[in-house]
Amino acid sequence: KLHNMVQELKGNIRVFCRVRPLLPSDIPTGNGRNSPNSMSPGEQERARLEALADIAFPDKRDHKDIVFSSSSENAMGQERKEAWNFGFDRVFEPNSTQDEVFEEISQLAQSCTDGYNVCIFAYGQTGSGKSFTMEGGSTEATAGMIPRAVEQVFRVAEELRSKGWEYTMQGQFLEIYNETINDLLGKGEFDKKKHEIKHDKNGTRVTDVVVQPLHSPMQVRALLALAQSRRSVAATLMNERSSRSHSVFTLHIRGTNRLTGESCEGSLNLVDLAGSERLNASGAGSDRERLRETQSINKSLSALGDVIAALGEKGEKGDKHIPYRNSKLTYLLKNSLSGNSKTLMVLNLSPMAVHLNESLCSLRFATKAS
Ligand code: ADP
Repeated sequence: KLHNMVQELKGNIRVFCRVRPLLPSDIPTGNGRNSPNSMSPGEQERARLEALADIAFPDKRDHKDIVFSSSSENAMGQERKEAWNFGFDRVFEPNSTQDEVFEEISQLAQSCTDGYNVCIFAYGQTGSGKSFTMEGGSTEATAGMIPRAVEQVFRVAEELRSKGWEYTMQGQFLEIYNETINDLLGKGEFDKKKHEIKHDKNGTRVTDVVVQPLHSPMQVRALLALAQSRRSVAATLMNERSSRSHSVFTLHIRGTNRLTGESCEGSLNLVDLAGSERLNASGAGSDRERLRETQSINKSLSALGDVIAALGEKGEKGDKHIPYRNSKLTYLLKNSLSGNSKTLMVLNLSPMAVHLNESLCSLRFATKAS
């Protein structure tokens, strides 16, 4: 009940935190023998998380143990309630599976079939697990939130057929790089066309982009794979570009009920944000292009934080100014963040001590957004 009340106060914005596991590549010596202590990787992760919590939330020390202890040790409700004291609705530890994460997301994702605009963001530094969370691996078990959410929407749409609902779906997959929109489903014109965001009474439209009718989850997977390969082609040309740009997959869904005549329209936006790490623009190897990238990323991520914070504060008044226009990303998602919308931010964290500072910045961002 408390949780529901909190949800109302916060509006429809939820924040999850996910810490990725240590990877073999995280240990430079390969055998861990140079490790300064004899803690197991699990213990190290826990110690780091606790250190993070200490610094990030100095006034809330008491809750640290509850949040970062494993869910099996706590009744679920208790854990959740306490987790909220940190500003998170749910904390996923390194051993959490994609299944477990999706279980918490599926209801939210499928609410686009009821006419909601849903936005799910992955935020974090490069290498923290954003793409793993959103796109995931190629096996069933490792598939990420995008393919799972799309499958769920198709499944629910199929179930609702028996109640008279018929849905049409369309997909769009964009990249925002240096405050410029590129069409990841476009045909060979990558980077050439100028795409503009238009808002009118029919909703949001981006000029000259492919809006693909979608018929099956399999088709969507193929589209995603295609878009991904386009992105990686661009990446070899341009400096790990995929970590320097935002990708926004949008599923537009329109339903009509042939029995009652009702209709509804919703959308599901799944966003893999650019790496949030602060780049040292004056550092070695930096150039004008890099500086521009850095400025664009900083600008759009802080604009997103501002918009989400302003939406969260809106409360009863509802007339607060929301600064959507401060970045392409927030302007593109304007209608999906406001009004009939539900937003989830997944904060991805690296478990490594060397990334502590970046993790703290991410935690602060999330605290502001929640
Ligand atoms: P980002 O998109 O934030 O740059 P990635 O998703 O590419 O980060 O993750 C970095 C590496 O960590 C990848 O090799 C990825 O497969 C791995 N990884 C991330 N999260 C997990 C996880 N929960 N379980 C297993 N491996 C993960």
